[in-house]
Amino acid sequence: MIVHCNDITRQEEAERMKKEFTSTLSHELRTPLTSIIGSLQLVNSGAIGDLEPDVLDLTSVAERNGQRLLDLINDILDIEKLESGRFTLDLETISLGEIIGEATVLNKGFAERHKVRLETHGPDARVNVVVDRKRLMQVMTNLVSNAAKFSPEGEAVEVTVRRDGALVRVSVEDRGSGIPLEFRGRIFSRFAQADSVLTRTKGGTGLGLAISKRLTEMMGGSIGFEDREGGGTRFFFDLPVAS
Ligand code: ADP
Repeated sequence: MIVHCNDITRQEEAERMKKEFTSTLSHELRTPLTSIIGSLQLVNSGAIGDLEPDVLDLTSVAERNGQRLLDLINDILDIEKLESGRFTLDLETISLGEIIGEATVLNKGFAERHKVRLETHGPDARVNVVVDRKRLMQVMTNLVSNAAKFSPEGEAVEVTVRRDGALVRVSVEDRGSGIPLEFRGRIFSRFAQADSVLTRTKGGTGLGLAISKRLTEMMGGSIGFEDREGGGTRFFFDLPVAS
């Protein structure tokens, strides 16, 4: 009995510390970081005068890395909220094609930086789904940016929408080196990356797929991946078609 009470106290203490940590992340780190990035964006855009090229190089590195840090903080806050059940969705009925179109525009620059083309094939893109627009975009962006990041230069990342009865499947296919067999079982776990810290060349946090899986499931769907015929990987998610 006494042991049981102690356990609860320790659990409560751990919960309290976790809450304090995420609140610090959110307020003390995210807020000033957002304003630092905003200022750097203004400086880098030339809005307050031209910069010497070598100064612009440095302030651009600062802006990019600030953004990476902000992405990481946002991912940590998302996964914490998703796992503690404090995450709510803003559901609406929308045409899937609309989201795919937006996701393609949003990720075009990222794909170009990796010298990869983005192609969409949407035989069933007009299908309606009940989703949180912002959160479905987050899932799409994660899959498309991963595909672009792990694709060889000059290849295409293909996004396809296909209806199958009561479900609609969105597939994102690449011609990358695929998912190592020994990594497949934990690919949707938090902070999981196939490369170790020492061999990692692609950046990222290992949180994107863990977040995407929870988000798709909250929207009544599921997510998965398979080898692609001829090499590469096909990630996909299925969502119920809105009646
Ligand atoms: P991140 O991309 O930020 O590392 P993710 O959770 O999105 O985090 O992906 C986890 C890991 O899964 C990646 O680091 C990579 O090892 C592997 N992975 C994801 N998508 C692909 C892909 N299309 N091709 C090859 N490996 C992938």
